[in-house]
Amino acid sequence: MKRLSESAEHTLLLVDDDPTLRLLVAAGLQQQGYRVIQAEQGVQALEQIRAHPVDLVLLDVMMPGISGFEVLRTLRALTGHEHLPVLMLTGADDVASVNEAFEAGATDFITKPINLPLLIQRVRYALRGAQRETMLRQLYLQQQTACRLAHLGFWQLDVRTKMICWSEDAAELLGWHEALPATVDEFVKQVVPSDQARLESLLNLTVQHHEGFNTEVTLGQGHQERTLRLQGTIPPQDTVMIGAFQDVTALRAFEDQAFYLTGHDELTDLPNQRLFTRLLGEQIQRLNATQAPFALLVFDIHRLHRINEGFGIKAGDEVLRTFAQRLQQHTPPNALLCRLEADTFALTLPIETGDKVNEIVLDQWAESLERPYGIGSREVFVDFSVGGCRYPHDAQQAEALIQLAKRAQRHARQKNGLKLSFHHQIDLDSSTQGIILETDLRRALERDEFFLVYQPQQDMSTGQIVGAEALLRWRHARQGVISPDRFIPLLEESGKIQAVGEWVIQAACAQTASWRAQGMALRMGINLSALQFEQPDLTARIKHHVAQYGVPAEHIELEITESIAMRNPKATLLTLQKLKSAGFQIAIDDFGTGYSSMEYLLRFPLDKLKIDRSFVRNITDEARSRSIIRALNVLGNGLNLKIIAEGVETQRQRDYLDALGIQEIQGFLLAKPLPADEFEAFFQQHAVEQAQHCPASDA
Ligand code: C2E
Ligand code: CA
Ligand code: CA
Repeated sequence: MKRLSESAEHTLLLVDDDPTLRLLVAAGLQQQGYRVIQAEQGVQALEQIRAHPVDLVLLDVMMPGISGFEVLRTLRALTGHEHLPVLMLTGADDVASVNEAFEAGATDFITKPINLPLLIQRVRYALRGAQRETMLRQLYLQQQTACRLAHLGFWQLDVRTKMICWSEDAAELLGWHEALPATVDEFVKQVVPSDQARLESLLNLTVQHHEGFNTEVTLGQGHQERTLRLQGTIPPQDTVMIGAFQDVTALRAFEDQAFYLTGHDELTDLPNQRLFTRLLGEQIQRLNATQAPFALLVFDIHRLHRINEGFGIKAGDEVLRTFAQRLQQHTPPNALLCRLEADTFALTLPIETGDKVNEIVLDQWAESLERPYGIGSREVFVDFSVGGCRYPHDAQQAEALIQLAKRAQRHARQKNGLKLSFHHQIDLDSSTQGIILETDLRRALERDEFFLVYQPQQDMSTGQIVGAEALLRWRHARQGVISPDRFIPLLEESGKIQAVGEWVIQAACAQTASWRAQGMALRMGINLSALQFEQPDLTARIKHHVAQYGVPAEHIELEITESIAMRNPKATLLTLQKLKSAGFQIAIDDFGTGYSSMEYLLRFPLDKLKIDRSFVRNITDEARSRSIIRALNVLGNGLNLKIIAEGVETQRQRDYLDALGIQEIQGFLLAKPLPADEFEAFFQQHAVEQAQHCPASDA
């Protein structure tokens, strides 16, 4: 594959009828090391593209002769140019052109008059985006090919003789050059040693209990390992086991790639919070036996926005990168370091007591972290604070440790003059406010202080509002309306979440029924918390509520987050199967933020993935976020699931999601979560606007 990261290797085609603009833009781009060829008209542009390999096109919309849109449409129809990045140059605020540009297949657009630094930035992003897309497309094609190859293969095992028969194309599917194993023992020998015992015991259990099995094993054939999904069952009273297999090697490789992209921060190349949480969890599991203590430290840079405002975003980025590098120099070889949030880093430090950490951080590290940061010819200073907590003393779970260290860091920051504070050193005063809230929360249910708001969900192809997500609110007597992020963790700690969750289900069912009676047949999304999801009689409880209000179960969509689903995948599978057979829809919330085991994702009976809003937020200016969404979309489609994107705030985000073929969206662009009466007004108004835009004959 051609390397696209060196600008010197890129050829850009600049198409514009304005010679001054061409001169200016070409000079600016050449200065960055790009090769620029030019055309002053559409026909000439198409000739150039046919004659030279071009990496990116800057294309004016308004030109004498054929328009930019015509050129783009012709270009997209040429084989090999379907994915060539094309940036359209449009007049400012020309919304119609922007829309037409996207429809014709533009990658991005830039408004005139041209702002050269911005244009260079966009060109760089577009080229980088194209590179990632090429990579993902290749992976996708591999996956497609694998799927095509993997029309299932079959086998039969005679339990008495232990002989196996294979379907005709089995050797080809398995890429097996020698004779296929004729007996089950020969087959087991072909499996890598670590999988052999598991496979044997599955086969034995199937023979003894006539239950089916479904597993994945790795075949080790010399240097070439293949991952095989293997299923088998014995019909009652039979002695022949029948089964199917599928080669899932390429699919697994594709998933690994996609999830690498979601795990790393682009600026510092450090793991991001998601990956860090997982790695930390794994480290804790490994340490569990020894309980070898470590400290988790969170570093927060103060007032980075001042550097961004005063010297530009690039300067801020430079400071972050240097800060990360300096931290990295102090991080011991086996420790973990990550970029937790924009200006926050976290690291683990294997050590005995908190006091030693104090010395290390304050005496040795602070000196280097506080040294001036060079930005071009200038120097700036940064201030930071550190919070810490100890494993296993303060907490034993990754998420909890991160929360404690963050809280300690906020404490350090609030107390002037304190650079480092440890969780166990914080006095109780600062948490009194939390206690007051907790006491009030205990009474909130009986005082009727909870209420629900509803956020609409739109189908992208029809434009219709097809669903609503019920979101909980608490009206506190003195503090006003409090958001769930503040009180749901408290409810979970106190065990009250089950009662409140029950109230949510009941209230959401009542609302669904009332809307149905008014002719608004909406699907209702309900969030389930971890404890709620783990209730043994969950299905019966929800069934009771839908029956009480006469709501069809298919109209209720239960949302569980990826991390809840993966806490205990085996139990999750059973619960989901029960919910599914009762007719409820199931959605995985905040998808992409956890680490789903594909093994389970394939087995869970799901209907929908909700792509987390953190990916949507950066979709229009980070090729990376687009790649991630695209990869998640491919995964979802591969698993035959609907995809909804959360947190859609701008029209441009919507356009990109639409172009990717995402089916549904939810977010402030459409509406904030609304009280029921406002939701009704919104729904009616939206229906009227829809009818005006696309008259009934279209529908
Ligand atoms: P969630 O399930 O991911 O819900 C979506 C959150 O994103 C909501 O925050 C919503 O107001 C917000 N949001 C929607 N569109 C946009 C947008 O365009 N931009 C941005 N920046 N945000 C947007 P909210 O209502 O504060 O809820 C926060 C979280 O609290 C929810 O996240 C959910 O995990 C939890 N939650 C809310 N209601 C319940 C409930 O009844 N039960 C349980 N167990 N959890 C709930
Ligand atoms: Ca949700
Ligand atoms: Ca969510």
